[in-house]
Amino acid sequence: MKTTLITGANRGIGLEFSRQYAEDGWRVLACCRTPEKADALNMLATKYPDRVSVYMLDVADHDQIDELARSLSGESIDLLINNAGVYTDSHAGTFTNIDYEAWVRAFLVNTMAPLKMVQAFASHVARGSQKTIVTISSKMGSISENTSGGSYMYRSSKAAVNMVVKTLSIDLNPAGVIAVVFHPGWVKTDMGGPNALISAVQSVSGMRQVISRLTMGDSGKFFAYDGQLVPW
Ligand code: NDP
Repeated sequence: MKTTLITGANRGIGLEFSRQYAEDGWRVLACCRTPEKADALNMLATKYPDRVSVYMLDVADHDQIDELARSLSGESIDLLINNAGVYTDSHAGTFTNIDYEAWVRAFLVNTMAPLKMVQAFASHVARGSQKTIVTISSKMGSISENTSGGSYMYRSSKAAVNMVVKTLSIDLNPAGVIAVVFHPGWVKTDMGGPNALISAVQSVSGMRQVISRLTMGDSGKFFAYDGQLVPW
């Protein structure tokens, strides 16, 4: 049985990853900030008691990350999915209105947490058969695709995580670990809103297909959910 660890697993894209991998027979280590409020995820864990385990994890809290990594120290993780993310620009983020504290939060969650997760779980991933680390970024972090401006905080935090993952792909190459970033599409979730173009089911089905075909030669690439490469 393969194992995936997913952050931000209680709603949106993270919940759908958890649902699809559990349905497919994987063991899912589903992490979220407040398990007692994670109704949909807890229902999934009730449906698949042998496959889905829910863990409390605020990815901005490095002590919590280290503690979870310690408590799972015997485990192999085939696929680590850094999914948790925040969009801090809803009420700020324009040229004349930057909330600098919110910007720090965006970097803590979107940029630094994925690297801290990899540091803490590198040995678990090295024991896995698939040795794959997926980080959910965004096309809004692509410098060459930026034609509309705005969203300074989110864009910069995702552009920075793209560089983090590219660097990881080089540093982890000798260990045979694949590290990639994904643009999940514009997805109907709390973050994407109701006008988004695709459902979480479509986004996650597409990303899972791409993930299942990844090779070492793909490490360090920026994929869209449909397998197309996104320009940096
Ligand atoms: P949602 O807003 O629906 O979900 C965000 C998830 O991240 C929630 O589970 C949330 O948990 C979790 N999260 C936020 N902060 C933390 C934290 N400090 N610790 C742990 N978990 C946290 O967003 P999506 O599902 O749409 O987004 C998932 C990923 O996809 C994000 O990285 C996002 O940037 C990216 N993305 C989404 C797009 C879209 O169109 N939807 C487009 C491009 C990229 P909680 O419930 O506790 O807040």
